Amino acid sequence: MSRKPFASSADLAEKAATLEQLADGVYAYTAQGDPNVGCIIGPDSILAIEARATPLMAQRWIDVVRTLSAAPFGDLVLTHYHAVRVLGASAFGAQRIIATTMTAELIEERGLEDWASEQGRMPRLFQGADTIPGLTRPTHTFEDELRLDVGGREVQLRFLGRGHTSGDLVVWLPQERIVFAGDLVEAQAAPYMGDAHIADWSGSTLDAVLALHADQLVGGRGAVVRGTAVDQAIEDTRAFLDTTLRGTREVMRGGGALKEAFELVYEQLAPRYAGYPIFDHTMPFNVQRAWDELEGVDHPRIWTAERDREVWDALTG
Ligand SMILES: [Zn+2]
Repeated sequence: MSRKPFASSADLAEKAATLEQLADGVYAYTAQGDPNVGCIIGPDSILAIEARATPLMAQRWIDVVRTLSAAPFGDLVLTHYHAVRVLGASAFGAQRIIATTMTAELIEERGLEDWASEQGRMPRLFQGADTIPGLTRPTHTFEDELRLDVGGREVQLRFLGRGHTSGDLVVWLPQERIVFAGDLVEAQAAPYMGDAHIADWSGSTLDAVLALHADQLVGGRGAVVRGTAVDQAIEDTRAFLDTTLRGTREVMRGGGALKEAFELVYEQLAPRYAGYPIFDHTMPFNVQRAWDELEGVDHPRIWTAERDREVWDALTG
């Protein structure tokens, strides 16, 4: 295998963003495989979903929201702790920043390391990094479910089990049957498993997402999907996870090394997924975490900028 540029460090071409209306007042802003954001506009306030990586990047999205409504931001909902989702939060001036209790704990435990890791892996998403005032800390947390009223519309924030991280929430609109799934589901983009609980994610957690029977789904990356494409996106994500875990287990049981697991899983996934955004980027970290999980490391090890490079060099070199 020839040497590839580290993670997404060479991905510097700007992606075109698209605003899509999912229902009256419900919008997603997707960008060809870059992290998605969304909003729910009420008469008196706006609920924002995800904050982007920097206040500068957040402001570009807020400028789009301002073409729709001049209302202030009430709640900013963060689906999980990853830096590209949270560090732009200050730009919204929201009344509350909401996440799960576990997400708040992960930010305390590993937020700084994750920031350095993600900025190193995805520099293009961190334009205006000097505008980040520091870690984003939720002002309001919950364990399993929080019901909100946005201008008479019911919005449920739900923890459906461990998955992409141990604290992911989904935003569920029961009347409109719309789910913002965060990175638990990717629509034609590669899932990142570096901080995941892969067996839980591919099992009961994705089952719970499927059981919502959403009509429209906004994944962490990729286009908005509708109708039968919702189940397809969930099953694409599940098959990706299962293949990674199964291939890694096979090599481990045969007494093979981590690098052999990486090569086998890569070979198995590439025909179906190699064209997906961040496929090459995620693979070393995905297989490393699968290996750890199979060895019994329940609480994912903290990624640092240095550890990212070590694993990348060891597996792709
Ligand atoms: Zn993530």
